[in-house]
Amino acid sequence: MNLFSLKMRASNRNVGHLSGAEKLVNESQLPTYTNALLHRALHHSKGEADEVTIKVETIQPGDIQHLDALPVTTVEVAHHQEGIEEAKKLLFDLGLKQADEIIEMLGSCSSMRGAILLDVDTMKRIEPNQERGIRATYMDANHDCFQEDLKKKNHFQEALVLATKVAHAPNIIGEICISDDPEYVTGYVAAKEIGYVRITKLKEKGSHCGGRIFLYRQSDSSVSATITYLEKQTAVVHIGDESRLNKAKQGDKWKKVKKDLDFLQKNHLYRSLKEIQSAQDARVKMNDREYVMLASNSYLNLCNHSDIKRYVLQMGEAYGVGSGGSRLTTGTTSLHRLLEEALAEFKETEEALVFNTGYMANIGVISSLFSEGDVIFSDELNHASIIDGCRLSKAKTVVYKHNDMKDLEEKILAHPCENGLIVSDAVFSMDGDIVNLPELMRLANQYGLFSMVDEAHSTGVLGERGRGICEHFQLKQKPDIIMGTLSKALGSEGGFVCGNKLLIEYLKNKARSFIFSTSLSPITIASSLAALRIVMNDYTLLKKLQDNIAYFNKCLQQNKVPAHSHSAIFPIIVGDEQVAMNVSAKLLQKGYFISAIRYPTVAKGSARLRVSLMANHSKEELSEAARLIKKYIGNV
Ligand SMILES: *Cc1c(COP(=O)(O)O)cnc(C)c1O
Repeated sequence: MNLFSLKMRASNRNVGHLSGAEKLVNESQLPTYTNALLHRALHHSKGEADEVTIKVETIQPGDIQHLDALPVTTVEVAHHQEGIEEAKKLLFDLGLKQADEIIEMLGSCSSMRGAILLDVDTMKRIEPNQERGIRATYMDANHDCFQEDLKKKNHFQEALVLATKVAHAPNIIGEICISDDPEYVTGYVAAKEIGYVRITKLKEKGSHCGGRIFLYRQSDSSVSATITYLEKQTAVVHIGDESRLNKAKQGDKWKKVKKDLDFLQKNHLYRSLKEIQSAQDARVKMNDREYVMLASNSYLNLCNHSDIKRYVLQMGEAYGVGSGGSRLTTGTTSLHRLLEEALAEFKETEEALVFNTGYMANIGVISSLFSEGDVIFSDELNHASIIDGCRLSKAKTVVYKHNDMKDLEEKILAHPCENGLIVSDAVFSMDGDIVNLPELMRLANQYGLFSMVDEAHSTGVLGERGRGICEHFQLKQKPDIIMGTLSKALGSEGGFVCGNKLLIEYLKNKARSFIFSTSLSPITIASSLAALRIVMNDYTLLKKLQDNIAYFNKCLQQNKVPAHSHSAIFPIIVGDEQVAMNVSAKLLQKGYFISAIRYPTVAKGSARLRVSLMANHSKEELSEAARLIKKYIGNV
């Protein structure tokens, strides 16, 4: 069906231009709309028309560009001066420094029918005809999808249509507009980047002042491409329904998001990603430069171990790259079974179960075993995944002082329960210290509570054979639930739980994070399996790591840096978030990658450098790191 462009223009001898409008309609709508526009022309508040031009042109359907309306935000202001300030801010956001000048120019174009085309870099007007300006035409909303009163002008909708088309014009970076209608004080700033931001007052009521500026920035294509698009390209702008439009709240939903991010930025809590251009190892490439990596959890350098990589390639050939479903459907391969058998042997428990991540293991275990009415006693420095597991379980969570067994016992006595749990990191991830597990176990036994340790940072690090916290303390009785990760010393990905058969059967049936997620790929499982076999059979890397831990302790002591650790994690507490960030940045400049850890990972005001050691760090790298740390933290 053909589409028609329908244009109306009304004028009289005294006032000149009275009103104008345009529509894109199909043939069956043409009479109705022509009548409606004629009615509008003849009954205008500015005066009686003595000449009305109606122009009808055919449009080829293939020439139409369909555009989604810009998202709309409304900025409510009490006074037009406040509105002007808001508009200036938006122009700044668009990268325009001359916001004042632009606003001023807006007042000078009241009598123009068209818009100013302003080159924002030279601040020169570039319309071929400055009397007339540039007119954006051949556009309409998809008015088939909402009810409209054809005889009345809908300022807002027409403006949104125009702004949307203009925003899509080549070289146009935005638009600012105030209507010259004395009754209509709302104006807007619009751009693809910020959407259509309507400002409720941009001028005083009764003022005939108004205008429109298209903000142009030179690029490859020429001004004529811009003008041709604005004046000739047919565009249908798709607007949702009118009720949604009138609320004009679409942009508001992002307001809080932006505000929260701004807050983080101001408080040095904003996070961003660093890109590593090599394998995770004691030395990595970043920004095309080599760094000593002192921030990784790959304590045994197994992320980049040649035997493991070879094995993974072979297993990829045999088992493929994906598992096709959850563990309970298609996602358990022979490799999964072998890994679980090896883990049970490693941790000396009846059985083991692999989860997709350590995070998922913690939330799955805690939330499936405990529920409303139960009580969980949790160390105040436990990992976020334990905290989230507690929240998800809806059990009452009682937080005890860090590694303080006296406080734990007092809290147990104060919160008697039928079904309860004591849960703790084995090695605390941001402090590197070790839980007093013998005492924790004694309390669990005495009060009939489940015991659970998170061995993310003790597996492959603690104990004579690297088997973790139980070996470290040479415990005869193990905690009920031993949870750990394959993603730290084992250099792969995944979480695991070791325990008795009853526990593992229960988790297979009840742990939602185990049941409702596609299982890890055979490739990942193969890398965990190969890593575990190395750890179980060859203690060379473990010895190197443990030597490095002893050596780095000595280096810190020599440099009088107040930090000490029995694990691979060394917290060097500086307190202030910004200081921590600055020191970390300086170390990076020197080629040492050491993370600054801030709130919410650790408490506010306890920001720190977190050094983590690897088996393959050289003595020179460690002593130089200690020296630089001392140099940059000074005496904090
Ligand atoms: C890293 C970590 C986890 C989460 O393990 P992922 O495998 O990375 O999801 C859980 N607990 C602690 C203590 C950790 O450090």
